[in-house]
Amino acid sequence: MCPVSRRFVQGDGGFFESGLLVAHCLLVELPTGLLLVDTGLSTADLADPMRRLGRGFMLTARPKRDFLGTAEAQVRGLGFKVEDVRDIVVTHLDLDHAGGLSDFPEARVHIYEPELRAMEQRRTPNEKMRYRLPHFEHGPKWSPHEVSGDLWFGFEAVRALADDVFMVPLVGHSRGHTGVAVRADHGWLLHAGDAYFHHEEMKIPPRCPMGLSLFQSQVAIDDPARRRNQERLRELVRDHGDEVNVFSAHCPVEFEALRERQRRSARPPPVISTTT
Ligand SMILES: [Zn+2]
Repeated sequence: MCPVSRRFVQGDGGFFESGLLVAHCLLVELPTGLLLVDTGLSTADLADPMRRLGRGFMLTARPKRDFLGTAEAQVRGLGFKVEDVRDIVVTHLDLDHAGGLSDFPEARVHIYEPELRAMEQRRTPNEKMRYRLPHFEHGPKWSPHEVSGDLWFGFEAVRALADDVFMVPLVGHSRGHTGVAVRADHGWLLHAGDAYFHHEEMKIPPRCPMGLSLFQSQVAIDDPARRRNQERLRELVRDHGDEVNVFSAHCPVEFEALRERQRRSARPPPVISTTT
């Protein structure tokens, strides 16, 4: 996505330069098949953006119509079939995370139950606007999860699939927003979704460009909860930064750092093999 004003969104560059936000997805090889964490935008979104994404998103987020950038094209590019993706875990159901669900209609979609309820009920104007019904009209195979007593680094968590994949609820951005923790060869990855947007928000003290800061407060369904969870993530990074790599769904700096690490590893990027 190329929002207006790089300075406002990324904190550097020009006010009139385009910014850059990524939609960071993970593809994970499990013994049961492939798992996708978040789905970004779909081929259908790029083909019919006004209906699927809406004018507001097109004018503010300004997504590139890059069909090769979709999760579907990248999965195929790695030599897999779309049907090889058996499971999907979504951090939440905003359009830039759930748009790609329709490219994987056969996959089971693991979701934190309060998020599914929020999307189905759409109780507030915020929720009527943020959840795009065309993204769900193919009938996703929902698999809702609730917290079940598992703990992950002190966070209440949900064992989503195997011992290596946990949903870590980080509510506030949306009613059922969750992080997704995946154990990789080199430690844990925590896909923190939209719990924060800019890598410097994980520093103590945190720093966030004004545009992103305003956007996050404005779009949050529960801003105090969002801030509390961000604080807990900073503590996690401070205390366990050597064991857990935390990244936001949208930060291009974190995306590049992880891609570089993946490149250097012996395994073919961007597939992350988990230990069992
Ligand atoms: Zn997002």
